[in-house]
Amino acid sequence: MGRPTSAAVKCAVILAAALLPAQTADGPFPPHKVIGNVYYVGSANLASFLITTPRGNILINSSFEETVPLIEASVEKLGFHFRDIHILLDSHAHSDHVGGNPLVKKLTGATVMVMAEDADAVPGSIDRILHNGDQVKLGGVVLTARLTPGHTKGATTWTMTATDGGKPYHVVIVSSVSVNPGYVLVNNNKYPQIANDYRRAFEVLRSLPCDVFLAPHGNQYGLEEKYARLEKGGPNPFIDPEGYRAYLDKGEKLFLSKLEEQKGRR
Ligand SMILES: [Zn+2]
Repeated sequence: MGRPTSAAVKCAVILAAALLPAQTADGPFPPHKVIGNVYYVGSANLASFLITTPRGNILINSSFEETVPLIEASVEKLGFHFRDIHILLDSHAHSDHVGGNPLVKKLTGATVMVMAEDADAVPGSIDRILHNGDQVKLGGVVLTARLTPGHTKGATTWTMTATDGGKPYHVVIVSSVSVNPGYVLVNNNKYPQIANDYRRAFEVLRSLPCDVFLAPHGNQYGLEEKYARLEKGGPNPFIDPEGYRAYLDKGEKLFLSKLEEQKGRR
């Protein structure tokens, strides 16, 4: 191959890499039962949860539009039907968790419910606006929406009770308490109360009884390591109240250190 061709090829490769969105690095993850009627149907990086009921199912997090086929395949692999998703919820209004909303709605006809404070940042139509403490009920399952803001204004933590082996377990699907790169915690004109909102989120999360904690990214709750243990058998690795406390401690420490750092820079 002559020089111009190889340069052209190289250029094309670089161009293609630049055009590829980050999420294409994402891939499938084995779908599995977490506990009771709660199932993991997300990808390697983006968590989606299916909550099954006798009257249809609930999906939390549509992820990117590109992730929707992965979610659909995972749901079907578990023996459920994607079309049986009747309600679509989310953890918070960032595109890696709600970008697929219009497609899921189109494919399933699900009723989309979103926390009021996040509503203007969620693509597609919304059927029900939620407020802190609202309950979502289907087929005997009750999910409670807790406003745990900061990461986004309407960041929503979902709580429910799952029954497994005749025993009830408190399940907490945390929204996220991460402070992303570029987040402004001090003198933020677009979100003046952001620091107080984070504080409120930690306070709410610490008040919740929790046996099983889940989050919108697998690495936030040790998905890979817990799934490996699940495969080996033995006690359910997702029952992890200590892990929940540790996640909150670590998250709050990070938040406070970033807050102090930004205060110092003023
Ligand atoms: Zn986010």
